[in-house]
Amino acid sequence: MVKFWFLGGADEVGREAIYLDLGQEKFLLDYGVNVQTMSHPIEAPLPLKAIFLSHAHLDHSGHLPCLYRRGCGARTFATPTTFDLSLILLKDSIKVQRKKGMIPHYSYQDIDKLFEHASPLYYRQKVGFDQATFEFRDAGHIPGSASILIHAEKKILFTGDIKFEPTRLLNGADQDLEADILITEATYSYKNHPERESLTQKLQEEIRTAVEAGGIVLLPCFAVGRTQEMLVIVEELGLPYWVDGMGIHATQAILRHPESHKDPVRLQRAFDSARKIRKAKDRLEAISKPGVILASAGMLQGGPIQWYLKRLHDREDCLLILNGYQIEGTPGRILLETGRIQIPGLDVKPKMRVEFMDFSQHCGRDNLISFMEKLNPETIILVHGDRNHEFREELAEKGWKVFSPKNGDKLEL
Ligand SMILES: [Zn+2]
Ligand SMILES: [Zn+2]
Repeated sequence: MVKFWFLGGADEVGREAIYLDLGQEKFLLDYGVNVQTMSHPIEAPLPLKAIFLSHAHLDHSGHLPCLYRRGCGARTFATPTTFDLSLILLKDSIKVQRKKGMIPHYSYQDIDKLFEHASPLYYRQKVGFDQATFEFRDAGHIPGSASILIHAEKKILFTGDIKFEPTRLLNGADQDLEADILITEATYSYKNHPERESLTQKLQEEIRTAVEAGGIVLLPCFAVGRTQEMLVIVEELGLPYWVDGMGIHATQAILRHPESHKDPVRLQRAFDSARKIRKAKDRLEAISKPGVILASAGMLQGGPIQWYLKRLHDREDCLLILNGYQIEGTPGRILLETGRIQIPGLDVKPKMRVEFMDFSQHCGRDNLISFMEKLNPETIILVHGDRNHEFREELAEKGWKVFSPKNGDKLEL
């Protein structure tokens, strides 16, 4: 008998946490926060045998230090890349929480405690306990991201966040898998994303046209994953380009782990060729001539991108390309909905052109359904989505045994 308790992130995107009770041994899969509100999952009961972290994003990792603050003595397993990236994101989150006037949920000491209990595990390396053996498989979502394969009484696969389609940076998820129980993210159960290669080429054309006409292209980038993909895409164009913000630090961390991405030589070259913004005068130089600027944050909600928007918004020859999901309430989303840039110190209708391109790091609907058909599990459990109930009904009509738990639900299989 396997018991699941969905502590968070079941019928929502954010604060992912699944408590797995195998009888004698209890495990925790991910322990995240809602990045916008900092709300956290239901507290996981202690003691735990071990914790498995699928990837570094805070909606999967952001509450882990609190577990150690409560005296957790169990080890946390993640890929070496995930540990390096989590360290950057967890520390940054303390700063962001303070900036927002919140009291951080954890301290730097709690992060240290987490890292004292860190056990790095590479893809396809196994770790065994009395009741189960665990293994990570490449999830193709961000560098270091993993699906968690659990060989217990039943074979269980938790996808984490997953993308099957290859990108310039990543190979796409490992699909050489078998499972009786599939716990899958369902972020985009309702839509497909444009084919990545043609989207990449379209982006390159847009950038080339704008820069050759004398403009500057601003690419707001998530520090982890998107900055590195954009570095590789932009390097191919042979135009001058700059990188600014947390993406520099994240790229250095990712380059330390050549196993975490597709082509380490290419990423290294793309990073070496990029001009890095280190001081204020570098920014002035970057906006003094045509080129491309990659800067955090990806949803315009902070970071150096705001500095560039303040200086370039009224230049008709400049182009801003939002290239990732824009959460409701962020300046990026507001810009797409109202046509206005609203950031601290600026509220304008920009003269610069604004575009959106759907470079998602999650699988789209059709890819997810094909994956389910190929895996053919006995049971499917939908998590990490806000339309899981509708998707469950649709899959059930096709003959699948499907659950779409709500936060707090327990399930015995
Ligand atoms: Zn993620
Ligand atoms: Zn996620």
